[in-house]
Amino acid sequence: MRPRAPDQADARSAAIADRGACEVRNVGADEYGVFATRRFAAKALVIAGEVAEVLEKPTAGCHQVGEHIFVTHRGNTDKVRHCCDPNVGIRASGDGAHDFYARRAIMPGEEITVDFALCRYTTATPRQRCRCGAANCRGQITGWKDLPAAQKAEYRDCAPSYLLALDDKYAR
Ligand SMILES: [Zn+2]
Repeated sequence: MRPRAPDQADARSAAIADRGACEVRNVGADEYGVFATRRFAAKALVIAGEVAEVLEKPTAGCHQVGEHIFVTHRGNTDKVRHCCDPNVGIRASGDGAHDFYARRAIMPGEEITVDFALCRYTTATPRQRCRCGAANCRGQITGWKDLPAAQKAEYRDCAPSYLLALDDKYAR
């Protein structure tokens, strides 16, 4: 486990304490999304991940945090829905969890969205169709491995580093 700079640790503690900054809302029959209840500045920590369970095999909704390591999170992390133009990106917390950071300013009432390609290297087949409505919607939800190169470049600063390491290992 890497030691963290105090300011990052403080921001994480504050985000964990301020769970009310995001809330789960019903968006349809048996469908839920996570919404901001206050404004977040660009680059702000939006949801601090806390590991609930470490898994050797993926389950629905889990995050991949290493080549053979998957985790579920406490709180709202695993309830955030996919978008091909997401307003949060991911950084590994140092405790093996995924933290969500704002890719741009997020307004109160806005849904928090992440690209599931930032959450895992590959996804189960058949691929789930995407109807996120973003102008750049790819039409299907894939893992990082199958993202177009231009999209990977776009996400370079907000993708957990294990994904880049797996690319180095397998995709070249
Ligand atoms: Zn989409």
